[in-house]
Amino acid sequence: MAEETEKKLLIDVARLDPEGETLEGEADIVDLDEPFVKPFGGVRYSLKAQLFGTELLVRGRLEQDFDLVCSRCGETFDTTVKVDDFTASVEVSQKDQFADLTVDARECIILALPTYPVCAEDCPGFAQKAEKPKGDDRWSALDGLKVE
Ligand SMILES: [Zn+2]
Repeated sequence: MAEETEKKLLIDVARLDPEGETLEGEADIVDLDEPFVKPFGGVRYSLKAQLFGTELLVRGRLEQDFDLVCSRCGETFDTTVKVDDFTASVEVSQKDQFADLTVDARECIILALPTYPVCAEDCPGFAQKAEKPKGDDRWSALDGLKVE
């Protein structure tokens, strides 16, 4: 795409179809800077927006890609956080051209992040992945062990 990713999720209410409209795009709005949670790309959205008097109702899907650190093995992996039932309602006045959904959408994505992310359902975890420690000669006794 040639166009730059927007830094806000704005709905152009001044030009919104009175029957409602489906809006799709990408907005770079999740600016987390955590060591274990790194978003990349923007939030992809597909939203149905409709004005009811002075109330703008928006519902639809949001998706954001992240680099996360597995809570079991400590490896970094990438995943897509999806929200299928994003809803927001914003009060708009006649003179507003845009309704700003940046904060609503950002919070919704952050709340959808897993509390204990795992790289795979069957991730064996750190202990199983660890190799036997080097330089600890208690282990070398095992090497000479003959199993009859
Ligand atoms: Zn893992």
